[in-house]
Amino acid sequence: MPSLLRPDLVWDGAAAHDGWAVGVVDGRVAAVGPESDVARILGPGVATRRLDGRALLAAPVNAHSHAFQRAIRGRTQWRPAGDDVSDFWTWREEMYEVAASLEPEDLFRISRACFAEMRAAGWGSVGEFHYLHRTPDGRRYDDPVLLSHVVIEAAREVGLPICLLYAVYATAGVAGDPVEPRQRRFRTDSVDEALSNIEILRSRWAHDPGVDVGLAPHSIRAVPAAWWGELADAAETLDLPLHAHVSEQRAEVEACLALRGKRPVEWLADLGVLSERFTAIHATHVTAGEVGLLAEAGARVCACPSTERDLGDGVFPGDRFHDAGVPICLGSDSQTLLDPWEELRLPEYHLRLVHERRVVMGETDGDRVRWAPQALRAATAVGGDALRTGGGRLEPGAPAWLVSVDLEHPVFEGGRPSEFAELLAVAGRAGLAEPLS
Ligand SMILES: [Zn+2]
Repeated sequence: MPSLLRPDLVWDGAAAHDGWAVGVVDGRVAAVGPESDVARILGPGVATRRLDGRALLAAPVNAHSHAFQRAIRGRTQWRPAGDDVSDFWTWREEMYEVAASLEPEDLFRISRACFAEMRAAGWGSVGEFHYLHRTPDGRRYDDPVLLSHVVIEAAREVGLPICLLYAVYATAGVAGDPVEPRQRRFRTDSVDEALSNIEILRSRWAHDPGVDVGLAPHSIRAVPAAWWGELADAAETLDLPLHAHVSEQRAEVEACLALRGKRPVEWLADLGVLSERFTAIHATHVTAGEVGLLAEAGARVCACPSTERDLGDGVFPGDRFHDAGVPICLGSDSQTLLDPWEELRLPEYHLRLVHERRVVMGETDGDRVRWAPQALRAATAVGGDALRTGGGRLEPGAPAWLVSVDLEHPVFEGGRPSEFAELLAVAGRAGLAEPLS
């Protein structure tokens, strides 16, 4: 039966509205607007659900996650005594160790726990960048997509819609060296192997509106030059989102310059990878020219600021993307913490510390520049665009993946409805928003 949801406040991505309702039919948003309009559009035979004291908005979209990395959250917060450093590369050793040890049932258990924490924190759907494909000794499972399947099952068991971004991983380093023994679980032998596995996943999960599939060439370190064009074409033909890690580390940029004479984004542009379906994950170390190439192609970037600060990657240059009109989405990546509101404020807050000023990124609203509405859209609509699921939007036709927020929580004490986005952006915390089921 169609339902009419009637909270105290509706955040539609632009403003907080009093007296509005949301109509839901068959799991999709059918109407958003003043209650009488929504009631008229839905017609008779509607179940009205009052959400007193609550605000309703599109659920935050976690556009970049590696669920199994949740297992090493507490294990990597140290460095060797003496002069040795701890950085992304030393963290990666720990990650490889856990990746090598997981049996399918371990992967299911860890993923389920991670997705349950993610959902409870307020994330309402996830883009799972999944690169564990083979047995610990590098053989194919009888079911070639067993581990992808396990991760999808884990998300579905806790009620979290998932876009499984099937990762392609074939080399160790920009020079195209063969994968190392500890990377053999990630290995894909050919573009055809990846596409055939994606087809299996798509048909196996076609019945479930909470499961989507995408394509994720892991990085320029892990995918040979000759494969990129073919993968980008396949994403176009099959209408898949295309995601890749790009320039998270200076070492990757230097290796690319040394071997290709180009920076990573320049090289990907030459290979025909950049388009409106492409999302560059991290994009931490980029030049103005690279920002311009992403903007020109209509591509997006995904910041994972809690992970980037944990790994010491560098500050996400959100202001440069913002000024060039490149949309920014967000991801929890290594699961150092799970909190959509923390993730959405960090890009702005990190830049305040760098530039010693406030409201670095924002949009003009009358005589003010506000940063919070845009940060909320980064956590919702832009993430949905990156995964091509339609999630993160409160508009007719979008999946009804919604969260409600308790307006009686101390976070909102003394605030005005017009400050809803600001209060959520500066003081929101994990658990404040609850998925609507
Ligand atoms: Zn990642």
